[in-house]
Amino acid sequence: MPALQNFLRLKSGPLTSELLLRTNDFGLGKLPHNLETDGTTTSVCGFCSTGCQLNLHLHEGEAVGLTPSTNYPVNLGMACPKGWEALTVLNSPERATAPLLKEFSNKPSRKITWDLASKIFTDKFKKIQATYGQDSVAFISTGQITTEEMAFLGAFAKFGMGIKHGDGNTRQCMATSVVAYKQAFGFDAPPYTYADLEESDVVILIGSNLAIAHPILYQRLARNQRNPEIIVIDPRATETAQIATQHLQIKSKGDLPLLYALAHCIIRDGRVDEEFIKEHTEDFEDFARFVRPYSPDATREDTQIGRLQVEALAKLISDPTKRVSMWWTMGVNQSHEGVRTAQAIINLCLMTGNIGKPGTGPNSITGQCNAMGSRLFSNTTNLLGGHDFANPDHRAKVSKILEIPEEKIPSEPSWAYDQILDGIESGKIKGLWVIATNPAHSWINQGKFHEVRKKLDFLVVQDMYHTTETAKTADLLLPAAAWGEKSGTFINSERRIGTIKQVRHAPGQALSDFRIIQLLANSWGVGEMFEKWSSPPAAFELLQQLSEGQPCEITGIAGYQHLDEAGGIQWPLRTSHSQRPTSNIEDSPLEGSALEVRRSMFASERRLFENGQFFTPSGRARFIFDPPAPLPEPTCKEYPFTLLTGRGTSAQWHTQSRTNKSAVLRKLYPAALFLDIHPDDALALSIQDHDPITVSSRRGSLEAQAHLTTSVRHGEVFLPMHEGTTNLLTFPSFDPHSRQPSYKACAIKVESSCGLLVVTA
Ligand code: SF4
Repeated sequence: MPALQNFLRLKSGPLTSELLLRTNDFGLGKLPHNLETDGTTTSVCGFCSTGCQLNLHLHEGEAVGLTPSTNYPVNLGMACPKGWEALTVLNSPERATAPLLKEFSNKPSRKITWDLASKIFTDKFKKIQATYGQDSVAFISTGQITTEEMAFLGAFAKFGMGIKHGDGNTRQCMATSVVAYKQAFGFDAPPYTYADLEESDVVILIGSNLAIAHPILYQRLARNQRNPEIIVIDPRATETAQIATQHLQIKSKGDLPLLYALAHCIIRDGRVDEEFIKEHTEDFEDFARFVRPYSPDATREDTQIGRLQVEALAKLISDPTKRVSMWWTMGVNQSHEGVRTAQAIINLCLMTGNIGKPGTGPNSITGQCNAMGSRLFSNTTNLLGGHDFANPDHRAKVSKILEIPEEKIPSEPSWAYDQILDGIESGKIKGLWVIATNPAHSWINQGKFHEVRKKLDFLVVQDMYHTTETAKTADLLLPAAAWGEKSGTFINSERRIGTIKQVRHAPGQALSDFRIIQLLANSWGVGEMFEKWSSPPAAFELLQQLSEGQPCEITGIAGYQHLDEAGGIQWPLRTSHSQRPTSNIEDSPLEGSALEVRRSMFASERRLFENGQFFTPSGRARFIFDPPAPLPEPTCKEYPFTLLTGRGTSAQWHTQSRTNKSAVLRKLYPAALFLDIHPDDALALSIQDHDPITVSSRRGSLEAQAHLTTSVRHGEVFLPMHEGTTNLLTFPSFDPHSRQPSYKACAIKVESSCGLLVVTA
């Protein structure tokens, strides 16, 4: 027996030596002996828009481990579970390793060569254009690939292939903020830096579950030394609401009336910043007249927030001694009236002068790692570099820099995502190219996407996995290299441009999206038109030239190395623009070395509108408003609950194409789908905790388990968006200005699936 115990505890031998952990020579942590590192590099994370930088530990040029960068001004040594698992998801057996062609619906796809794949891409799409017209092929791009790749994609699709209609999955998350900023400020310009989270006295989070959706930004807020009031406005008692100093649990879609009620109180009491309004804004008088009827009492039914709470918050927001910042995410953006809601937030900041100063701002937090890159450079809604397709001067400028005939540049913007799908439904679009996104899972009213897909003559999907819901329906699948297998840049929520590096070989024949587009451009016969796009750094130089004179100008960046040395660079950075410390650091409550750290951090942080000059023709910001609109699908007797959807946990990312490939991440969220329902509502339906239930809308139904919780209000229920079936239920309504889908409120019913006979007294 002792001999057996000794054998079992043997600390030598081939397997044991492999498993022994040794302190890493680079960065933090330990690695197995056979993964000992011999170098390190850095890369911005490829999941969310926070833009954390990771140290990648290399063994013979391949990344074998990672740790968060401690000296990057975004994450300061922190990463969320997704970032820590960024390398794991590259190893999945579900990676697409060769082009796949589906010739017969009843037979599996077959592997083909890149030569044949690019020829089929060209032949099929050209034939569709010849038969049905030039605009009968469209593309759906993404916020998940590099800025260089999405710009090249947009340039090739529109100028090379002659496609007019292309949109991005950023329509699903950020279109509302884009339009709100453009209309109010004259350009899509989030004004803040992350340091503002630490510099505010009052932080108001509206429709934002920061602790879960942007956990590192929540950590930044937790570092705030000013003892801030943290106020969450949300219909759910989210994880963020539970750790806030105040939670206003509004009725679903009560946000716009509440924001108008706050403005009403501030104006009524004369607590506005008159000088700022007079010098830097326009249309305030109209707005003041407009909000007169929106008293706390008049809006109470819509908000379910009492007068005293509204009055108290109005006083806090308009306290001239406080720095107030207001932050929003998808609770605002994914709404049938998201643009006006975002602008109601902007209005509050303008009227109280809470903009352009540390700790202030109407601040929209972005979703995907490169949504900001997509907003400015994807050549979908905007012409490259935040330009306007309809503006002849802008077309001439782009044509000159890219040496592309001006007539190749469309003079009108594309249809939005939902309009492209409508175009497929009506037979106007017959060919679709989907890049790094998964609409068969994520599109609102998913059932319609599946119906629409049947009407396509040819669907090309370009993705890192062959198993996404959309990839499985592709006629042609193009295998793409992933984050970590290519290089380029991302732009994060605070407008910071950072680099990503190639630290792994892509599996099999997978190619970077950049190389795939080069290949397809050659096959299409327009290779010469894109000779200047020879590599990601060459493409970045083109984007710099295109940005000249724009609010997002980046001509002052000397290249990728400059970005790395500077800890990322926020736009704008003009050639003439010297980096300077942000003002008002000296009144920080920090002292000594902590103040020094803060000073050096701020040296590379810049916020917009410090001079009160906006990008509108008048240089003034605009007050924009409209009356609240009724819910597109209100509850009724048959469908009595309002369904809210949102992020489940910080270990899940969107349709989970990547995050469900990590065993570690899978352990951080429930395996089953849970519906959050108030205990009183469950009681009325004779449903107990963990009971199987059927959740139905007019469009479809799904099976889930009941999770009884007071985090949702009576009559409202919540489902995480990551589950493949959630969007069978959602109602396809869209903000009329941004055409962003309203994922957050539709009418549903809940029924027990227990099959038990319930006997009542
Ligand atoms: Fe990556 Fe976002 Fe997590 Fe940072 S917070 S590690 S950027 S997923």
